[in-house]
Amino acid sequence: MEELYCQGCGAKIQTEDENKVGYAPKSALQREEIVCKRCFRLKHYNEVQDVDMTADDFLNMLHDIGQRDGLIVKVVDLFDVHGSFIQGLNNFVGHNPIVLVGNKVDLLPKSTNLNKVKNWMRRVAKDFGLQVKEVFLVSAVDGSGMDETAFELERLREGKDIFVVGSTNVGKSTLINYFIQNSTDEKDVITTSYFPGTTLGFIEIPLDDRSDMIDTPGIINHHQMSHYLSKNDLKIVTPKKEIKPKVFQLNQGQTLFIGGLARFDIEQASEKIGYVCYFSNDLSIHRTKQEKADQLYKEHLGELLSPPTNDTLNNWPELVKETFRITSNNKTDVVFSGLGWITVPKGGVTISAYVPKGVRVIIREAII
Ligand code: GDP
Repeated sequence: MEELYCQGCGAKIQTEDENKVGYAPKSALQREEIVCKRCFRLKHYNEVQDVDMTADDFLNMLHDIGQRDGLIVKVVDLFDVHGSFIQGLNNFVGHNPIVLVGNKVDLLPKSTNLNKVKNWMRRVAKDFGLQVKEVFLVSAVDGSGMDETAFELERLREGKDIFVVGSTNVGKSTLINYFIQNSTDEKDVITTSYFPGTTLGFIEIPLDDRSDMIDTPGIINHHQMSHYLSKNDLKIVTPKKEIKPKVFQLNQGQTLFIGGLARFDIEQASEKIGYVCYFSNDLSIHRTKQEKADQLYKEHLGELLSPPTNDTLNNWPELVKETFRITSNNKTDVVFSGLGWITVPKGGVTISAYVPKGVRVIIREAII
């Protein structure tokens, strides 16, 4: 096939992988003006879709952004901030200011102190070596925080472009679509001039005559639980509305199974205390004795302990164990990347977290 490039975003056209940059169905190649599916949807439906890219392309993309002048809006998923945080951004941003947008705030319990969450996010950014100008908490689904954020972004960008970056599934497309629907009246929002010198699939949505909001492809974070799950199981695991925390009073020697996806053992504790679980409301949690846990898992994975179900089970990795001594006297979260977290109410306990090989467990100060 002769090499073709999208007239919208400049990406090299390919017909194999719908989730990757530059995808167009074969039938589109007959048209006079060839655009990728993502640009087609933007042009005709005023809607962007997410596509993903390889790690190498991603570094090139960051490099391209570093050469340009604009405000960088980094979107993270509040349900999995560490897991969705893109590393390495700090090396490339140059002098461009960065703001952090925590999306999916609708999932946090209503009683959550959002200022505390914002401060905590600032600290996380700092730990990742990133100096952020502002932190915003929004829901692209129910619209909360969006007007204020749009207003502030307008101020902070000082007439320049906005680059929106994030890993896949943080809700970047939903967020941009919300902005498009609320800020432009135009039917055809896409510009036809594409980024000179890049073929990475940046798409530009005009903000005014001189500047654009630029949607960039997302990078896949392989250490998140979602990458091991079938579409059906992912539906159960992904929370859709406010999480109702579940409290379990546990003694040393007790175990919780989160479906069959993860396991949490109290290895050592001097008293019975309440552990608060924040997972999708559709996910069942099963309590058992640590001494029976291995057997239970062996016999009931995929049934009593599910998900994983059918498709997921075919490639299900073994669970690996990591043990942590919790010392802080404040509340501590044990985060299962992409799945949820359990809050340990105080220090002086030793716990083990089991996750599929490759998924990350993170210990952090409690956010709620
Ligand atoms: P992208 O890959 O970053 O572009 O993410 P998408 O916009 O495709 O969203 C990924 C998933 O998160 C979808 O299932 C969305 O419905 C969901 N999502 C996006 N924004 C929000 C939000 O504000 N709240 C909730 N609860 N879900 C959201």
